[in-house]
Amino acid sequence: MAESMQTGSFRWMKSINKSTILNVIRLHGPISRAEIAKMTTLTPPTVTNIVGELLESGVVLESELGESTGGRKPILLTINPSAFQVIGVYVSAHRVLGVVCDLNGKTVDEAEMSLSPQPTAESFLETVQEVIQQLEGGIKQRETPLLGIGVGMHGLVDSDRGISLFAPNLSLRNLPLRTFLEEHFRVPIWVENNVRAMVLAESWFGQGKGLDDFICVHVGSGVGAGIFSARSLVRGPSYTAGELGHIIIDSSGPHCGCGNTGCLEAFASGPAMERRARERLRAGAQSLLHERFEGRWEKVTGPVLTEAAREGDPFSKEILAETGRWLGIGLANLVNLLNPRRIILNGGVFDAGSLVLEPLENTVRERALSAPAEDVTIVVSDLGKKAGATGSATLVLQTLFQPQAED
Ligand SMILES: [Zn+2]
Repeated sequence: MAESMQTGSFRWMKSINKSTILNVIRLHGPISRAEIAKMTTLTPPTVTNIVGELLESGVVLESELGESTGGRKPILLTINPSAFQVIGVYVSAHRVLGVVCDLNGKTVDEAEMSLSPQPTAESFLETVQEVIQQLEGGIKQRETPLLGIGVGMHGLVDSDRGISLFAPNLSLRNLPLRTFLEEHFRVPIWVENNVRAMVLAESWFGQGKGLDDFICVHVGSGVGAGIFSARSLVRGPSYTAGELGHIIIDSSGPHCGCGNTGCLEAFASGPAMERRARERLRAGAQSLLHERFEGRWEKVTGPVLTEAAREGDPFSKEILAETGRWLGIGLANLVNLLNPRRIILNGGVFDAGSLVLEPLENTVRERALSAPAEDVTIVVSDLGKKAGATGSATLVLQTLFQPQAED
């Protein structure tokens, strides 16, 4: 398919009436034309016309016959998930993970590359481009049109202009991601903060499904939150809403990458936990890690601590429990401030299960106000490591399925 047609197919489907009908079919299909007319405010002839166009494009299929209410059995319509594909890219401080999803958000293909520790703007953009190119190769082989690309980017993101304003762990500023990718791939591009992209994945496919309000908390190289309120992402005028990692836990605490001291991130991120463990081991703390890693303390990582804790090492258990308690303090603040119904956790540290979660939940119960603490459910995401990339793909799906003013 010619590149210009790919861009065209998105514009064609983005009309308000088409999006409205597509969304009704997505949520309620298999569904008849008459039921669609009833659920929307569109007249039956309008529905018939638009459904005709959608059938012709292949995005909607006629499936089985429905129950008859007296006359002829109506023909039911469903979304054809493989009519188009979308690409979602998740950029963390260390890697770029891309997925190809069908219209149901199911992963069809994936590609991953590591980022060099201090990349230049050029080498960073090249890595993102290469991951997408690998995926695009597969899409061309499958002969499925690519509808658009979503990017969930670490750090501060101006989602309106598609610019990465500041990626602290990569030391990069003002990357024109959208313009760069549009030039190379000739499809519509969306750029969002990576934790906010996760919120979309949870809202569409995960444990946020059907909820009006919930919060995602991601713990990795940093600590970040994505806030979903009244069925929308909260961004703020400077795009910094949800910077949970930089709430101050102890004003005389350790230095944080943001220039401040005592931020939650400086206590509870993956690197902060590893740093704490290595310092204490170096100072002679008792642990079974001594016989395995003596003098090679850089090998003591989150997964190593989790494994040792599972083997019963009291030192590793305490390091994980401390991280749980610090995160619990951060979450108690979040619970008091926003009274969320659910908090969905994501990140490698939660692979340690109850070793982190128990102290975390106990701290929230002890430290947050009792009414909101009773109302909140804290769960670990079941979307796993692909949550961010799936969420980035959802940036495209959301625009396709959610009726909005044409621009
Ligand atoms: Zn900070």
